[in-house]
Amino acid sequence: MDKIKLGISSCLLGESVRYDAGHKLDHFLKSAFDKLVEWVSVCPEAECGLGIPREAMHLTGALESSRLVTNLTNIDYTDKMLKWAEKRLKELKKEKISGFIFKANSPSCGLYNVLHEKGTGIFAMALMRYFRALPVEDEERLRDESVRKKFIEDISIYSSNQ
Ligand code: SF4
Repeated sequence: MDKIKLGISSCLLGESVRYDAGHKLDHFLKSAFDKLVEWVSVCPEAECGLGIPREAMHLTGALESSRLVTNLTNIDYTDKMLKWAEKRLKELKKEKISGFIFKANSPSCGLYNVLHEKGTGIFAMALMRYFRALPVEDEERLRDESVRKKFIEDISIYSSNQ
């Protein structure tokens, strides 16, 4: 049986792409999904050209129109990120991903609580607006067995309808 194509924040696969040139390899996630899926790795900050290492950043502004800004020098990378995302999301559509696992709490990848205890990262938000029905989760929520089971069901259904 063909594996399901699943997008994932690159740092969770152990790629050294974080702002400090480190990674966040998630062994649990890999052992839970490796047999089922073919990973499609995406690091929005590195791929849009912000470099490795790079200055740490955060989200600021209103929830629906938040901005991605560096912590010390206050450079706004929102437009750069969104311009790159436009092209990358089209590629991901062509690759037929059936879901995406995001790194929690990142200003680019986080799904929940990134700004004002609610906000979503810039790339995660762009992806959800582009793929309205794509199943998405983060690695923290997937520790929960019921969330994980539901996500696997959802990506299987999405994949069979591609
Ligand atoms: S959280 Fe997202 S942007 Fe940050 S290092 Fe991981 S993949 Fe890259």
